[in-house]
Amino acid sequence: MSRAIVITGGSRGIGRAAALQAGARGWSVAVNYVRDAAAAEEVVAGIAKAGGKAIAVQGDVAEEADVLRLFDAAETAFGPLSGVVVNSGVVAPPSRLADMDLARLRRMFDINLLGAMLTAREGARRLTQGGSIVLVSSAAARLGGPNEYVDYAASKGALDTLAIGLSKELGPQGIRVNSIRPGLIETDIHASGGQPDRARRLGTSAPLGRPGRADEVGEAIVWLLSDAASYVTGSIMDVTGGR
Ligand code: NAP
Repeated sequence: MSRAIVITGGSRGIGRAAALQAGARGWSVAVNYVRDAAAAEEVVAGIAKAGGKAIAVQGDVAEEADVLRLFDAAETAFGPLSGVVVNSGVVAPPSRLADMDLARLRRMFDINLLGAMLTAREGARRLTQGGSIVLVSSAAARLGGPNEYVDYAASKGALDTLAIGLSKELGPQGIRVNSIRPGLIETDIHASGGQPDRARRLGTSAPLGRPGRADEVGEAIVWLLSDAASYVTGSIMDVTGGR
């Protein structure tokens, strides 16, 4: 089977870590980004330096045409695909649902859910030789995100449900589908939600006593992509330090 994958949001944070780890272990990687071309090119260069193959592809996962173009570019560069990491996601500043406006809810569900569905759909269409789809959900899916972001939590809960249903749909085609729920991981996402110190501040409350690192989530993603996880599908895996 080919070893070529698409990672949405591969330019920074968890997606970046997964891209570098997969690239160093022999996968060819299409690194999607939406705005930060320099960060995506840095990931591509890092993979090339480790002896791997990668391309950077700009695209907004909430736009169907962009998602199709991303997968076309990956197939043109590497041939048939064997893995998809559905990773792109956003948060918004803390708010109660009563105070959330429609624009915020639309953006949250357009990127985190519709974008994930479109990306997973292309995986379902294009992993013609079988393979693995990894959905990056969040511990918020079971914690609920009260007073901060029930919208984000609900979008991630939907991804866990998608993993269950899609794994049953695609199992007969040899495509495994799993969800990963990171806990408090030190990345830029917290600053983008107006709480740059969130992972550091709350991470100490995890049983392991600290926030997680992007590479610790990347390891779990790469394992689910790999043949080492050949009998794992429909799973929802916490990577939370026990939180
Ligand atoms: P991050 O550091 O903010 O990186 C987000 C990535 O997604 C970037 O590569 C960004 O591209 C890309 N992106 C954002 N909007 C996009 C769009 N519309 N289309 C395509 N790409 C887009 O985030 P992260 O912390 O690594 O989070 C990655 C995933 O893990 C998300 O789904 C998040 O919900 C989930 N997660 C994170 C944590 C945590 O504590 N960090 C916990 C649980 C779950 P640019 O570089 O071009 O902006």
